[in-house]
Amino acid sequence: MRIFDPHIHMTSRTTDDYEAMYASGVRALVEPAFWLGQPRTTVGSFTDYFDALVGWERFRASQFGIAHHCTIALNPKEANDPRCAEVLDVLPRYLAKDGVVAVGEVGFDSMTVEEEKAFVRQLELAVEFELPAMVHTPHRDKEQGTRRTLELVTESGLAPGMVVVDHLNEVTVDQVDEAGCWMGFSIYPDTKMDEHRMVAILQRRGLDRVLVNSAADWGRSDPLKTSKTGAAMLEAGFSADDVDRVLWRNPIEFFGQSGRLLVDPDLADDGSAGADASATFEGNSILRGSRD
Ligand SMILES: [Zn+2]
Repeated sequence: MRIFDPHIHMTSRTTDDYEAMYASGVRALVEPAFWLGQPRTTVGSFTDYFDALVGWERFRASQFGIAHHCTIALNPKEANDPRCAEVLDVLPRYLAKDGVVAVGEVGFDSMTVEEEKAFVRQLELAVEFELPAMVHTPHRDKEQGTRRTLELVTESGLAPGMVVVDHLNEVTVDQVDEAGCWMGFSIYPDTKMDEHRMVAILQRRGLDRVLVNSAADWGRSDPLKTSKTGAAMLEAGFSADDVDRVLWRNPIEFFGQSGRLLVDPDLADDGSAGADASATFEGNSILRGSRD
């Protein structure tokens, strides 16, 4: 099974996670810029974080045989903090970089006026940089938030095929499907969507425009939920080719629209591990202690 996890926050994860992900078949991923749990008080905290996403974290992933891409944005939650407003001005510099495959996560958290303003501005940036957009849907008020999200996407002029609306469930999937956008599903260990509910949605509406992610971050989450969904699909009678389509070819097709993928789309299942753990990024390696 070759897996491309289209939404996972590796900055919050350990080297054990990287090893387990590789062993389960993960060969590529997208790490969206998001909220760190602790409010940031200045634009410099964001630029250091963005630099780490396109620099150190990409290097770290490469040491475990995984191609790391990212998306860059002012996340919906911090769009409400006036101290972070300037982040919108530094985004163009990052949206031009290699391996930045979308604008995101953008969208709504609490459906405020400030969130909507930042969302609209960042959809404009996606149009300007010809990049896909990754849109977060609120965990409360999901249905109404998704409806407003789709209205703003339509008004932005961004083609629906360039937009993934993420964190969907049985209640929100149909309106996103009808709008022609990609449908993202985050598979969580004990709340919201799990792999069996995911399989039921795939049985009902097919495999087109579906992305399945672990959305693993600093909260209770599981970076192996992509491979567990693949296993649940096989158990339910889907073919290995169906699994490959959902877990590999779909994310390649969606993020490939950026023209900036860093992974070989035809990569074989077994990949090529051969990463050198003593390699360095700006003088730092992932090794600790003396290696003599
Ligand atoms: Zn996320």
